[in-house]
Amino acid sequence: MPQTQQFASDNYAGICPEALRAMEDANRGSAQAYGDDPWTVRAADAFRATFETDCELFFVFNGTAANSLALAALCQSYESIIAADIAHVETDECGAPEFFSNGAKILVGRTENGKLTPETIRGFARGRTDIHFPRPRAVTITQPTETGQVYSLEEIRAVAATCRELGLKLHMDGARFANAVESLGCTPADMTWRSGVDVLSFGGTKNGMAIGEAVIFFNRSLAEGFDYRCKQAGQLASKMRFLSAPWAVMFETGAWRANAAHANACARHFADQVADLPGVEVQFPVEANAVFLKLPPETTAALRARGWLFYTFIGDSARFMFAWDSERARIDALAADLRAITRTPA
Ligand SMILES: *Cc1c(COP(=O)(O)O)cnc(C)c1O
Repeated sequence: MPQTQQFASDNYAGICPEALRAMEDANRGSAQAYGDDPWTVRAADAFRATFETDCELFFVFNGTAANSLALAALCQSYESIIAADIAHVETDECGAPEFFSNGAKILVGRTENGKLTPETIRGFARGRTDIHFPRPRAVTITQPTETGQVYSLEEIRAVAATCRELGLKLHMDGARFANAVESLGCTPADMTWRSGVDVLSFGGTKNGMAIGEAVIFFNRSLAEGFDYRCKQAGQLASKMRFLSAPWAVMFETGAWRANAAHANACARHFADQVADLPGVEVQFPVEANAVFLKLPPETTAALRARGWLFYTFIGDSARFMFAWDSERARIDALAADLRAITRTPA
């Protein structure tokens, strides 16, 4: 039974037509298992063409697996990973990066907006160098951040230069990578390996696929043994073609970019309608597909009473996320409800 559209998460959305068609096509007849099939070759070729480099890549089921296995590949158990305080790896993965790395510690940097700076990284790397402290080995940045900010290419390059200088590997959590590419209007290569990123988790699920994320190693030597790591973690899909076929078609049709462009435009459209309402404050610049609103408690309650679903887990503000299928009419209905509530004298 179809439900009325909500904006609590971009994971509420269904599967986009291109990804669904790819799964139907992959379902015509049988094919080799565990990734030895033509679809997986086609998807890998599409990634390499899109990123303009001969990268090594792996398909896993979700973002937690992509991030934690990628970070585990970068660190020994006695080393550490520098991350922002609101990073998904720190707050939303139930300790999976620590678990899969057999104990590597996440060092949490205080941030304003989820963005790590060279100063924060340098502070950790230079702060303690004795045997009692888990040696920093990797840095992870989220692009776009959990609050919908986008690192500029200059910011990524500055972080990467600091990593090089300090002997740290750089991972990018790109659960919404496509939204960041659309936001900056740059190439995927510029946002990653050309700016010094070693490993990328590229999110397919929030981009319109049913399931699936890719782990992309631009530095191929870091991928040594990663196939075994995936298998051991229960992340090697036997019917791999149903993970890989959607990627191939998303790239070949350009749907990955169109979906992200639509989601970003919807966030912009919503923010523009509500930014000036009394008592409403847009908490973070809208640079991708998220809008965070600081609202008086009675407004939050009134919105919920009208049936709207949303989370308030970051800084108390209400989070609205827009997806590939967000409908203008529903966005306008949400904005109209917010307008009606804020203009009603208490
Ligand atoms: C959604 C998300 C992920 C992936 O989460 P899963 O539920 O494990 O797929 C990773 N990083 C960020 C920033 C996310 O928003």
